[in-house]
Amino acid sequence: MPSHIICPSGLAGEVRGLTGKEGKLLADRSLARSGATIDRILGSCWVQTTDAGVYELADGANPDWSKVLVGDRFYALVQIRRASFGDEYAFSVQCEAASCRERFEWELKLGDLSVRALSNEAKAAFRNGNRFETALPRGDRKVWFRLLSGADEVRAATLRRQGRENLLLEAVGLRIVEIEGVADKDRRRFLEDVELADLTALLDAFEHVDGGIETSIEVECPSCQAVQDVDLPFERGFFFPRARKERPTP
Ligand SMILES: [Zn+2]
Repeated sequence: MPSHIICPSGLAGEVRGLTGKEGKLLADRSLARSGATIDRILGSCWVQTTDAGVYELADGANPDWSKVLVGDRFYALVQIRRASFGDEYAFSVQCEAASCRERFEWELKLGDLSVRALSNEAKAAFRNGNRFETALPRGDRKVWFRLLSGADEVRAATLRRQGRENLLLEAVGLRIVEIEGVADKDRRRFLEDVELADLTALLDAFEHVDGGIETSIEVECPSCQAVQDVDLPFERGFFFPRARKERPTP
């Protein structure tokens, strides 16, 4: 049954659960390598648009998912998953404590994850050319950055697969549009010399405007009770949930 959803940017519409057709998409490795799997799943499970939100769409048309903000894409994907397999998501975590290292299963309800809507200021800035201003607190320079869309997500996945060593720098570089007084061709070299404190300030500025699902969650190790933060893993069980394994009784 289709369910009506409202994404963080205000984009609203109906989504349906996965069918055998999408099961085939998920198993297609060459599609996965091209990074196109998620676009295809969103494209086929988004039934209709009821509010175009920040996007320019013909009446009722489906969005061009490569241009949709990553926060909206992930939100829609989670709702498709809920419509397909329900709200419970189980994944495995390894305890960070050096003396423990226990591997355990953690389960949560996807509907309990908090969602942050895109602010009205951010919506306006996105519509007005997707340009956001911040500054390097130490370097004392203005920086303009943008919100990421589906096309960037594919690019970021390619960078990760290529095993680029400095992922922090890649992540920052992907979002910057302009740095005051720095030519585009020199930007990369400029960023390599920026103080780490300035880079993390940039990440904070990005996070401050982003809308989407909060994916940083707290888990507690059942063996040593240590609490750690993990980033919600997007693993096989997300779209291929297994039946719960019973623990063998000793
Ligand atoms: Zn532990």
